[in-house]
Amino acid sequence: MRFDVLTLFPEMFQGFLNTSIIKKAYEKGLVETSVINFRDFSTDKHRTVDDTPYGGGGGMVLKPEPIFEAVDYLVQDLPVRPPVLLMSPQGEPFTQQKAEELARYSHLIILCGHYEGYDERIREHVATEEISIGDYVLTGGELPAMVVIDSVSRLIPGVLGNENSATLDSFSSGLLEYPQYTRPAEYRGYRVPDVLLSGHHLRIEQWRRRQALRRTWERRPDLLQTAPLTEEDRAYLRELERDFDRDE
Ligand code: SAM
Repeated sequence: MRFDVLTLFPEMFQGFLNTSIIKKAYEKGLVETSVINFRDFSTDKHRTVDDTPYGGGGGMVLKPEPIFEAVDYLVQDLPVRPPVLLMSPQGEPFTQQKAEELARYSHLIILCGHYEGYDERIREHVATEEISIGDYVLTGGELPAMVVIDSVSRLIPGVLGNENSATLDSFSSGLLEYPQYTRPAEYRGYRVPDVLLSGHHLRIEQWRRRQALRRTWERRPDLLQTAPLTEEDRAYLRELERDFDRDE
């Protein structure tokens, strides 16, 4: 997977790209990221990348030319144009499903905005999609770009040590993940649930499934609308509802 990131602040990516899983993924040759300052594609002598908005109003708007030019440069020899993702609070909310969809590509271009926003022609004619990482406004698209790169990279086969880790993560199964414990079995009098120490794989699986269902039901019931559920899952959820109604 190749990520090309267009930003005015390439230095923000240094720590991120040189740490942990992303660094290892690069060393294993699975993920390559190039971070490009689109100011380098500005042609005027002041290397301008922004200007005041037509019609007045506060803030500066990113000009079209440097971003159009930078993307043209990145795609010039490619047989197929890769998706160009515009980081924007106005975009499609980013989800695990979206990360899975993006992980199927071999090349993504990510545009990081700054200032008041983008000239609309960038949205219309360069970006193929707009992605928001949440309903809040950040100063720039760099943190959202790192969120996208991190979540997509960990889905690429071979990036995580244990192949199962990504498929069991919250959201991948449509549910939140069950609680995890590690040694010691007892700490300050707090014990790990007996079932996890039993060595009984079937019972552990069932416990985990139920915990995942319970946790999702308590914290994110909206996910249960689309999660793939078995008859047994549904029966357990009905049990939870009944207990809840009784306690009310
Ligand atoms: N005026 C813009 C608006 O209301 O849509 C917000 C501009 S914001 C200060 C500057 C840049 O940060 C955006 O162009 C975008 O690249 C990035 N950004 C801010 N919040 C974001 C979010 N929630 N998701 C993705 N990108 C975001």
